Parts: sequence; C-alpha cells; structure tokens
Amino acid sequence: MPARELKNYVADQWTTPDSHGSLEVENPSTREVIARVPLSTATEVDRAVEAAAGAFPAWRATPVSRRCELLFRFAELLRTHAEDLTRLITRENGKSLPDARAEVKRALENTEVACGMPVLQQGDKLIGGAADIDGEVLRVPLGVFGMIAPFNFPLMVPFWFFPYALASGNTYVVKPSEQVPLSMNRVAELIHEAGFPPGVFNVVHGDRRAAERLLENPSVQGISFVGTSRVCRIVATRCAETGKRFQALGSAKNHLVAMPDAKMDDMIRNMITSCYGCAGQRCMASSAIVGVGETTYREVCRRFVAASREVRAADPLDPAVADEPMVLGPVISAKAKQFIHEMIQTGIDEGATLALDGRTLVIPGCEDGHFVGPTVFTDVRPGMKIHRTEIFGPVVVILKAETLDEAIGIINGHQYGNGASIYTQNGYFARKFKLETDCGMIGINVGIPAPVAPLPFGGMKESLFADTKGQGRAAIDFFTDRKIVTERYWAET
Ligand code: NAD
Repeated sequence: MPARELKNYVADQWTTPDSHGSLEVENPSTREVIARVPLSTATEVDRAVEAAAGAFPAWRATPVSRRCELLFRFAELLRTHAEDLTRLITRENGKSLPDARAEVKRALENTEVACGMPVLQQGDKLIGGAADIDGEVLRVPLGVFGMIAPFNFPLMVPFWFFPYALASGNTYVVKPSEQVPLSMNRVAELIHEAGFPPGVFNVVHGDRRAAERLLENPSVQGISFVGTSRVCRIVATRCAETGKRFQALGSAKNHLVAMPDAKMDDMIRNMITSCYGCAGQRCMASSAIVGVGETTYREVCRRFVAASREVRAADPLDPAVADEPMVLGPVISAKAKQFIHEMIQTGIDEGATLALDGRTLVIPGCEDGHFVGPTVFTDVRPGMKIHRTEIFGPVVVILKAETLDEAIGIINGHQYGNGASIYTQNGYFARKFKLETDCGMIGINVGIPAPVAPLPFGGMKESLFADTKGQGRAAIDFFTDRKIVTERYWAET
C-alpha cells in the first residue's frame, strides 16, 4: 500500500499545510512506511485556532441538547468503525489488537459520558443566601482549547478531553503525536460525517514547533497536554506565562506490591499483562514490583521470571496471534529501543541481577521491527537509575521490602505518582495502602488501575502538573468557568 500524505483538518476542510517538511510514519513491527506527516508551521496552527475561534460563538449558543445529539451520532460512528480503528491503531503504534480494541472502547465510553452534559453541566442555585438575595453558579464555556497528544494511545488520550470540551460548548484543536498521526485523522473524518459545524473540531499535525505555537497563541484558552514530565514542565511554565488554563499529565513508574497473603497465581497473571501489555508503553503499565518479606520476594522473582519467559512476542497483525489476549508487540521506534537497551546496560552496571534479558529478541519476518523481549531485573534497590527512570518498555525491576510500611515508603519516595497497586486479601493492608500511598490511581488486586470514563484520570507528584484531571466531571471543571450571579428584585410599590 503506498504511503499516504496526511493533511490537516481545519474548518471542515482537508488542507496540505505549509510545513517544515514531513516525517515518515512507520509500522513499528515491520518498519513499512505507512504515511508521511506534515510538520505544520506556526501559521497553520494559527489558521486552525482562528477557525476554532470563529466557530465558538455559534457553537456556544447551540443548545446543549443539540451539541450532544451530534456527539451521540459520533459515538454511533465510532461503534460502527471500531474494528477499522482498532487495526489502524495497531498499525501505527504496534500494540496488540485486544489492547487497541480496549483503547477504542474507552474512547467511546468517554464520548458517551460527555453525552450526559445536559445533566453534568448543571449549575447551582442558592435561594435567600442573604435578605432577598439569590445566588446562582453558571457554568460557561471559555472558547478554544488545545490538546497536545503522546504516541502511546493514538486514539484514546484526546478523548479524555475533547468530547467534554465540545459538549460544554468549546471548540477544539488537536495536535496528535507526530509518531502516530493516523488515528486522529480518522476521528476527524467521523466528526465530519456526524455533522459537526466547520471549525468546532480541528486537527493540526506537527512536531514540538506546532505544539509551541498552540501554547503561545493568545486565542487558546487552555491546553491539555499528555506526554513526558519533562515537557509537562515546559507546558506548565508557558501556560502560566501566557495566562492559559492547563493540565499536563506526565511520566510514571508504577509499582505493584505483593503481600505474603496475595493469591499468587492470579497475581502473577495479572502482573504480566500490566507489565508487558502495549510493550510496557502504557502510562499505567507497571514496571516495578515490590515483594514484601524475604519469602514473598523470592517467590515473586521466581514465578514472575518464569511467566515472563512464556510471554509471546509477535507482530500483532500476524493472523496467528490476532485474538490472543497477551501479545508483546514492538516498541514505538528505533530511538525508543536504543534507550531501552541503554537502560538495561545501566542496570547491569549498577549491580542489579539481569534475570531475563530481552535484548536479543528477533521476530522472524520482522527482523527490522523495534522488538524488545521481556526483561527482568532482581536485587534492585530504591534509587538505582533503573528504578528512578521511566524506561517505557518491557523492562521490570523487582525490589524487596521487609514490611508494607517500607513498600509504601519506596513508592512515596519516587518522583512519580501516577498509579500503584497492592495484591492482598487483607482489608487492613488494602485500606492502609490506598490511604497512605501518594499516587493518583490506586489498584487493589488490579494491575492497571486506570479509572473508567466517568471517574477522574490523573496522577500526583511529577506525574501531574495541574489541579484538574481528565475524564468525567473533572474534565467539565477544566472546560467551564463558574460565573456567580448575585441577584435581587425590589418589591413593586
Ligand atoms: P513526549 O513528551 O515526547 O511528546 C508528547 C507530545 O508533546 C507530542 O505531541 C510532541 O510533539 C510534543 N512535544 C515534544 N516536545 C515538546 C516541547 N518541547 N514543547 C511542546 N510540545 C512538545 O511524550 P511521548 O513520548 O509521545 O509519550 C510518552 C510519555 O507520555 C510517557 O512519559 C508516558 O508516561 C506519558 N503518558 C502519560 C499519561 C498520563 O496519564 N500520565 C498518559 C499517556 C502517556
């Protein structure tokens, strides 16, 4: 299939933008070039923002019931095309088909939750707060919002935000990751088919230069960013300087704590999917296991390494593995693979024990693909670089703690606080863990504690630069301001 030349979607038109050139988009399993993505100039970003700003007054004035009618139609189209979207995600990102299917499902769920906006957006009223005075809290949309997306969920991550933005009366510009730009273009086609007015939803392709212009453009009211914490910090600083709202969801090192009373077989199975699903490139992927007590630690090391050896690595589009729930696909790029190899060498140099080495994995027929096999380090100590760093690949470090307090201390001492899970049947341990662990998303016997769409999504510490999260009501707080009306009527005389 020839590589597609991608275009921007602005004001309901597909346009070839002025650009700083283009990048090739590869299928990471085969390195087949599947598209070329333009690196839009600042002028093109401004054009998209202008289209969104132009569409805002009429969209804000459109009844919320009508806005949601369009979103319902869009949700139906997502459902109809779920399988094509699934394959598209797998082609550009390399995750397994079941993982891609789960991504489409969560995108759809967020759209459905946003369809509840007529209820979700209702304000408050206080009758008689003072003598003859009533107070009213109105939720109002603000204008144009922008989204800068990461590579690891080409479809789902923007859905934590934009359905809520549109339903509450704002207009939108998305800059997808330049590594996986195809899924968002398909979304724009479905937005068009659903009948949204021109300019309400726009897609601009590009690299950091396009993102930087979104951060600068004075007509943009707020930015949702998802990516590395390094860039979160830049986004937070620029948005503070340019007076925009922002929410920036960053990097992670998610821990799984194994207690002595855990159901060992279920736990190991659950840990495997958490650590190796999406090749360890989920922001909620676990990459650090803490065994509590010598016996549990030893048992977890032995069983986890044995189970890791059994993980099947393959091209996820190989029909032989299409429906297998756990398939390890490639990582996103040659650069990512090189970084992972460097980190494995770092672990060896730091003195951790390399119990399983995935560096030599080759998939027949995909010799050029960016594959890394399951890799496990044991005898890891807190503070080692392989423990501190988000490696973002199928590399797992196992640490030992003498007590649950020590395990919680290891997690709380880490710079990131996205997710953490405990495996136990004991209510006391579970309660202590959920109350004392400084992470935004907690799992009890759940290895990927990603909240469902109606609940907020986001971490703590250096995993979140913001005071509002994504999804559900939290998204509505970000996309609306509260206007407080104080009113009084004098008696007719
Ligand atoms: P990244 O930070 O490299 O890129 C993300 C986006 O930022 C891209 O669109 C990129 O073009 C843009 N960008 C890059 N440099 C920029 C700059 N200097 N200024 C403005 N924009 C810039 O992240 P990535 O590698 O695409 O994604 C992986 C990261 O995302 C991981 O750290 C992962 O943990 C994180 N992530 C976090 C969550 C979460 O909920 N916390 C969810 C998904 C991914």
